[in-house]
Amino acid sequence: MGSTYRDYFAQLKAKVHEEPPQRVSELLGPDIQLGDVREKNEWDEGFIPGAVHVPKSYLEQWAEERLPDKNKTTILYCAGGVRSVMAADTLAKLGYRNVISLAGGFNRWKDSGFKWEKPETLSSEQAQRYSRHLLIPQVGEKGQQTLLRSKVLLIGAGGLGSPAAYYLAAAGVGTLGIVDSDVVDATNLQRQILHSTERLGEPKVDSAKQTLEALNPDVKVVGYRERLTSENIDRIIADYDVVIDGADNFPTRYLLNDASVKWNKPVVHGSIYRFEGQVTVFKPHEGPCYRCLFHQPPPPELAPSCAEAGVLGVLPGVIGTIQANEALKLLLGIGEPLVGRYLLFDALDATFREVKLRRDPKCPVCGEHPTITEYIDYEGFCASPGEWEAQHKLQGAAAAD
Ligand SMILES: [Zn+2]
Repeated sequence: MGSTYRDYFAQLKAKVHEEPPQRVSELLGPDIQLGDVREKNEWDEGFIPGAVHVPKSYLEQWAEERLPDKNKTTILYCAGGVRSVMAADTLAKLGYRNVISLAGGFNRWKDSGFKWEKPETLSSEQAQRYSRHLLIPQVGEKGQQTLLRSKVLLIGAGGLGSPAAYYLAAAGVGTLGIVDSDVVDATNLQRQILHSTERLGEPKVDSAKQTLEALNPDVKVVGYRERLTSENIDRIIADYDVVIDGADNFPTRYLLNDASVKWNKPVVHGSIYRFEGQVTVFKPHEGPCYRCLFHQPPPPELAPSCAEAGVLGVLPGVIGTIQANEALKLLLGIGEPLVGRYLLFDALDATFREVKLRRDPKCPVCGEHPTITEYIDYEGFCASPGEWEAQHKLQGAAAAD
């Protein structure tokens, strides 16, 4: 009996079907199962696209789950083509009908110039930073990677945008776009926690970028130091997954609404006035949009006065944080977002109420026969919409009911 390793391996090689990289690259396709039998640290350095990871040490246990069809052609590879020969023999014993080992393994595959990719894995710093997310099954490593790839656009780096952006950055949302044309003003600091006394007079987008990137270097902050207009909104919004609306004026609210319906982007809407806050999610074609509630901006004579509206400093913290929560749910696809639900918070009573909102079939933007098909740059509003929305919440809700 051949008792040396060399003899043993020669016997195996004689039994196992091997193919070089060129032939394997031709075979790969939907009818092929491809398994990488290397260890995790090797897999982490790169693998052949479409492969599943079945380390040789777990092959027997994992094969049925990861390479489920024993009648399909199964191709295995390792680093140099030795372990995959042994693994191929093992699979044949488990009943796999046609198993091929990649001759020369991943190394020859790579050297021959065929495609490979690196798996997305969290670095050890990221695994630490996001460890409390990794402990939640609904987020986990996959969810965290989703967040790191996600892009959220914040309209305004003010009262609502500050806490929302702060928490999204902490959570590891990879790209935060911030639209704000203002500079930091002393009256902002009572609630706009991204900014600080030493940054008075600096553009808010720059101040926000400093704070957020200091908190989490994984986050890329893209500042847009401009007002949203019909000219720039398509360019700005197109790239993002979710929009957080903390706008403080009617023209932006309506423009953003119309663009979000056009681009099919969910908008997490927040609104504050004195002690009252409101949050909802406008998800195009699933729930109502802003115009379902208020078809047009109020006529200037009915709009709230041009005086600045007062607000309790912590209120935007509560509402903006709920907006961040909704954005995370939308990005991760978990929970029940506030679609068609208007959440009202009264800071004095410390009560939450919820009002159902329905789509308006006559909505000029998302209704059955849209009448507004181009962007409108409304002019002549100096008032903040928060007061208007606070006064009209029930009419709006009733009209939609
Ligand atoms: Zn609508």
